[in-house]
Amino acid sequence: MTSPQPRPNVAAIPTYVAGKPPAPREGLTVYKLSSNENPYPPLPGVVEAAYAAASRMNRYPDMGNADLYGALSRKLGVPTEHLALATGSVALIYQLVQAFCEPGDEVVYAWRSFEAYPIAVTAAAATSVRVPVLADGRHDLDAMADAITDRTRVVLVCTPNNPTGPAVSQSDLDAFLAKVPPHVLVVVDEAYVEFVRMDDAIDGLATYAAHDNVLLTRTFSKAHGLAGFRVGYAVGPEPIAGALRAVSLPFGVSSVAQAAAVASLEEEAALLERVDALVVQRDRVVAGLREAGWDVPEPQGNFVWFELGDRTAEFAAAADELGIVVRPFAGEGARVSIGEDEANDRIVELARRFG
Ligand SMILES: *Cc1c(COP(=O)(O)O)cnc(C)c1O
Repeated sequence: MTSPQPRPNVAAIPTYVAGKPPAPREGLTVYKLSSNENPYPPLPGVVEAAYAAASRMNRYPDMGNADLYGALSRKLGVPTEHLALATGSVALIYQLVQAFCEPGDEVVYAWRSFEAYPIAVTAAAATSVRVPVLADGRHDLDAMADAITDRTRVVLVCTPNNPTGPAVSQSDLDAFLAKVPPHVLVVVDEAYVEFVRMDDAIDGLATYAAHDNVLLTRTFSKAHGLAGFRVGYAVGPEPIAGALRAVSLPFGVSSVAQAAAVASLEEEAALLERVDALVVQRDRVVAGLREAGWDVPEPQGNFVWFELGDRTAEFAAAADELGIVVRPFAGEGARVSIGEDEANDRIVELARRFG
């Protein structure tokens, strides 16, 4: 072989299947419920801040992201050294595997869970150890603790779990953390933290503060509705957050994204109002599904999971007919985002028809 060859793991990297956009339909408004996006436009002041930053696009962004680190530090009450910004929390997952794993080291995570995990792990030539979720879509934390070996460097806990929906409770997380050796990094992926409404919900900030091996990842993509701008952040002990910053791409977060995120953080009241409205819609959809005879796992994010097995493709086609695009996982099920009120009505209608 004389041509340049990538490392063998590169050929093994799974492809990210992005949620499809809807195809236009005659006489029918179509809705994209395939990527857990926020149906609301950006919060007040965000577009203006982004616009102002865009007029300075001949300059590089502030490499130190000073305004955004400052705003997050004040909002969360944590030192800036405990934060690491990146172009979405997907980038943080890449960075943490890169920073903590040698080739062949193991990363334990639930499955099915966020599809970016196997991609990031394989890209770093690390090894995925997947632990099946329980029948109700929750993490099997006992089995995940048992799956930790001498080669394990990182455990990813996705809560609420994308795509199945349930969140881990604080007491279950505490019991799990008590079993994890101190040199194993536990990443709590809180992409949907704003949507959680359960007893004994995780207090991520208190949890990371109490452990030297816990890191939280969060994002502006979901509740804040800035998915197109790519900003996420990690909160963790200084040595861990510092390692993530060290391997980050210089100038990764654009000046427009930094400005938008700072402006979005200033609109907390409006943010919470929108999140509350989506939670009301989520509860309405779940009630409708249960009434139609569906036993869906308890959703704590902005999406619901239909376990469909062989009928997944048929379900996605039936959704298309109703003008909604869902995210099918072939042979397993479909994830449907909570969107506009009309779109949510159609989810319930779909469930009734498909039953
Ligand atoms: C959407 C999502 C993210 C966020 O990804 P970004 O790169 O920040 O857009 C992270 N984790 C999970 C589980 C998600 O579903």
